Amino acid sequence: MQENVLLSRWTTIGTGGPARWFARPESIDELADALRWARDHGASVEAIGLGSNVLVHDDGVDALVVKLGGELASVRLDGAVLVAGGGAANAVCLHRARAAGLGGFEFASAIPGTVGGGVRMNAGAYGREWRDVLIDAVVVDADGPRTVGVEALDLSYRHSGLADGDVVAQVRLRLDPSSPEAVKARVAELLAQRKATQPTNKRTFGSVFKNPSAELGAGRAIEACGLKGHRIGGALISPRHANFIENAGDATSADCLALMAEARRRVHECFGVGLEHEVRFLGPLELPLLQGDGGAAAN
Ligand SMILES: Cc1cc2nc3c(=O)[nH]c(=O)nc-3n(C[C@H](O)[C@H](O)[C@H](O)COP(=O)(O)OP(=O)(O)OC[C@H]3O[C@@H](n4cnc5c(N)ncnc54)[C@H](O)[C@@H]3O)c2cc1C
Repeated sequence: MQENVLLSRWTTIGTGGPARWFARPESIDELADALRWARDHGASVEAIGLGSNVLVHDDGVDALVVKLGGELASVRLDGAVLVAGGGAANAVCLHRARAAGLGGFEFASAIPGTVGGGVRMNAGAYGREWRDVLIDAVVVDADGPRTVGVEALDLSYRHSGLADGDVVAQVRLRLDPSSPEAVKARVAELLAQRKATQPTNKRTFGSVFKNPSAELGAGRAIEACGLKGHRIGGALISPRHANFIENAGDATSADCLALMAEARRRVHECFGVGLEHEVRFLGPLELPLLQGDGGAAAN
């Protein structure tokens, strides 16, 4: 078990302090061993994928952080079923699917994470999400592995029913016959749409807040409060899309959190809505309560 491994290099925003303990299991047995070690030492467990939707406290995380590698990041095809380790990057899965002439996963082309992170978040874009393609997942805790069907994972908008400390070690995704050319064309189309509206070339952690409703997007609400381009320390509300925070060079997680608190306070004032954060907090990060609502849950 490694100690005090800096997590800023494992997050797309590039901020965050050290993990007290850090493990890189490469098989289900190694993962189960690490989780048992955590239980025996009274340590909580956090998984990290590509760190594309996490904000890590600047002082670090008092937990065992696991990052999956080896066979837990591998990808293979079994007919039209893609079998991927929880630590496999979406981009690798998509590449394998495209080469085999299988479609249905193109929606994930602009989601820079892993399939395990995708299950935890029920990640989605362009009207499709993990729930639509997932067959089942092998989930590991200190008691060992179990296979959980998609229904039992209770996936909904950026939510799963996984318990704290559950780690997704493998997934099976159901794909559809297509052609490499059709997959390539669809991906190009989706990436062009993405580039036109989001800060794809900046360090961010993806969407900051969940959309409060189909009618009111979080980005539109923050923009309406005049916060596009608003800066605290090294963190900036993206001038391109207000539901993104950019690391403008020397941001800390505290800067990002302060910016989130300000956006949340202003949207509550303007729209009477308490935004819930989509980005997952690692470490003791908390948003302040909102005035007058008894502190509508921030998440
Ligand atoms: C530029 C950009 C664009 C994005 N666009 C989208 C989008 O269109 N749609 C969307 O839904 N998201 C989007 N995101 C957010 C992010 O990419 C997704 O939430 C992604 O699924 C997170 O995967 P990850 O592997 O990076 O997980 P991480 O960010 O590392 O972790 C996210 C959460 O998942 C947990 N987790 C990670 N791996 C596992 C595992 N193996 N088992 C159990 N839990 C795990 C972590 O503990 C944490 O709670 C975007 C992010 C960026 C930076």
